[in-house]
Amino acid sequence: MYQNIKSPMPSKIRVISLSAFISLLLSFVILSVGLYLYLLKDLEEKTLTAESILTDRMDTILVELKGVAQSATLSCEKEDVRNLIEKSFYSPMFKEYGLFNEDYRVYCSNFGSQTFTIYSSIADRIKESKDGITVSLVQSNTLGHQTFFAFYQGENGIGVNGLAPPKSLVVELEHLFSTQYPYNLTVGKRVLSSQEANSDYSVLSQRTVTLDEWTMSLVVSLSSYLYWDYFCQSIPLFAILWLLLFAICCAIFWSVLYYRYSLPHSLRKAIKEEAMDVYFQPIISLNDQKARDMEALIRWKSPYHGQVSPLTIIEIADRLGLIDDLTWMVIRKVGCFYRENSAILEGVSIAVNVDRHSLLEESFIPNLQGILAEYPELKGRLGLEVTETSALNMSDLPIMVSQFERIKALGIELSVDDFGTGYSGLDFLRRFPYDVLKLDRVFVSSFQDDQFTRQILTSVTKLARELNMKVVAEGIEEQEQLDAIKELGVDSVQGYFFSVPLPGDQIIQWLEEKTQK
Ligand code: C2E
Ligand code: MG
Ligand code: MG
Repeated sequence: MYQNIKSPMPSKIRVISLSAFISLLLSFVILSVGLYLYLLKDLEEKTLTAESILTDRMDTILVELKGVAQSATLSCEKEDVRNLIEKSFYSPMFKEYGLFNEDYRVYCSNFGSQTFTIYSSIADRIKESKDGITVSLVQSNTLGHQTFFAFYQGENGIGVNGLAPPKSLVVELEHLFSTQYPYNLTVGKRVLSSQEANSDYSVLSQRTVTLDEWTMSLVVSLSSYLYWDYFCQSIPLFAILWLLLFAICCAIFWSVLYYRYSLPHSLRKAIKEEAMDVYFQPIISLNDQKARDMEALIRWKSPYHGQVSPLTIIEIADRLGLIDDLTWMVIRKVGCFYRENSAILEGVSIAVNVDRHSLLEESFIPNLQGILAEYPELKGRLGLEVTETSALNMSDLPIMVSQFERIKALGIELSVDDFGTGYSGLDFLRRFPYDVLKLDRVFVSSFQDDQFTRQILTSVTKLARELNMKVVAEGIEEQEQLDAIKELGVDSVQGYFFSVPLPGDQIIQWLEEKTQK
């Protein structure tokens, strides 16, 4: 009856292809973003280094220019010219110097007397500068089309300009950025670009450094070219990352699926959603052959595991701490059953199985009262069947007795279930005021042949009668068993001989047929 159906877990191929796809996507995202962040950091660091290189370089230039200005006069005699030649000879950067006066007229250079005026825009920048300095990138007769000029005007009005090939200014920057990071160096008003700055690429990010006093600024770019170059180089890393993530994804998928499709998880969900069924088995009174009582039995067909045995349900629910929830669910379903079939169930009591440990809990009685208030049709018709599956702790004894009294005060009949198999003995019966004693079916099956069982059952029924308890024999499957058990003088019988446990609608049909007969 309780066989497993094929689990509808997603196939291995689906899990593997999904893991492969997700890990591929993740590897791509991780690598793309990681690489971008790495290059941004590198750009940041290189730009900071470039800033300190430029600052140092301009500081050195200023020292050089100040040195020339200090030794200069307003004349351009041979001595002055020689002085300029000597200074440029020893300069690591400048190939030529020029001297200018307060009117920004160049009157002397390495090549002797000169008479030309510095561009007004350059003169303005010198005037605006706190230290009397600026730079520009203009044509010169000696160094050609683009010559780097650095200007300094001392407090005495004598100014110096140094001329150098632009390369000497950026040689360290070229080395720092190599071909990787294109940059634009603005010198005065003109822009000096790295070779790559002109190539065809899109800019992903930029960093800017400014040397305001010198009217210089440096813009360094992170190009898409560099990014893709690095990306292509990272393909082996990408493959390793993909493999690693694939393994992790597979492991996560399998564990999640294993958990989702596991029996405990499905059972927890079913109890929470009250997605279980309750079947009913009639208990026949031997007095008038009527089904005055029924037992409610849990049934559950898991979508993934098929029909699950009630004993397994109880064991797992107990382990998950959900046994009480299960009890309340069954009692509620019994309440609904009464509500929907009030006429035919008139005078029929239904007993629900309860775990003994649940009875000991403080909250048991209030919860029970709550359900009785919710389903008034249960009042006077609900019974509880308790199986003594473990020995009762001596300290629990008084609690148990008081709980029994409170339950009985609610009009609920208490049965001792599976009597003879658990821990319930004759002494136990005396201590607890049960209303019904249910003889376990192992007795019924061995009753006919075993003289010893016959003797035990005779004394048990005698004692039950003395204690005003009704006796029910469980597990009657054949007419012979029924005949034999009748001799014992039990009150009621239950078993497949009369009916197997049936779902609500079928038991109603069974009751109707029985009434008609
Ligand atoms: P139980 O309370 O002793 O219930 C009687 C069991 O005997 C039922 O098994 C019933 O189907 C079976 N039975 C009835 N007549 C015959 C018969 O003639 N021959 C045979 N071989 N079996 C018969 P089921 O439904 O498998 O339940 C097994 C046990 O699971 C129950 O034993 C009860 O201890 C527990 N159980 C079932 N439903 C619940 C529930 O809602 N709550 C709790 N706590 N336990 C439950
Ligand atoms: Mg029972
Ligand atoms: Mg039983």
